[in-house]
Formats: sequence, structure tokens, C-alpha cells
Amino acid sequence: MADGTTHIATAFNTPRLAQATQARSSLWARCRCGRTAAVDPSPWICQGLARQPVETLESRLRCVCGARRVRLEVRGLAEAPRGITGGIYIFR
Ligand SMILES: [Zn+2]
Repeated sequence: MADGTTHIATAFNTPRLAQATQARSSLWARCRCGRTAAVDPSPWICQGLARQPVETLESRLRCVCGARRVRLEVRGLAEAPRGITGGIYIFR
């Protein structure tokens, strides 16, 4: 019984993907190389991943610099990062 729940509890403070789809929220990816891009969460929502902590989806992103993991952040639209460069894609 505890198996699934304890696993989720460890990510208690991490935003879930569903939060990025709420009004005035958005999902952003920031790579170590300095690239920043808006990420459309709809492909992941379609895969039934809405309840996943965004942290678990970071390894599904690819950056043109070759990074295989890109940090994801859920932010309000007013907090959109400056200097959006693109170059970060959903890999799967
Ligand atoms: Zn990069």
C-alpha cells in the first residue's frame, strides 16, 4: 500500500506538471548552457503525466548543446524569464 505513496511523498514540494497548465502559469526549461525556452506541456499531459512532479520530466528534454537533462520550472506568466533563446525540445 505504501509503495506508490511514499515515492510521491519524496517529491512533495516539487510542482506537478498539472500546475503548469493552470491559468497564468507556464512551464520553462533552463539549460546549463544558458538557453531558456517555453515548454508546451500538452504532449506530456496526453501521456497521462499531469500528476508527475516536473523534476521527473527533466530527463525527457534535450537541448541543442547536447544536454540530456534540462531544469524545468513552473512560473507565473508575469515571471517569464528574460532572454528566451529556444533550442530546448521535448524528446519523449
Ligand atoms: Zn543547453
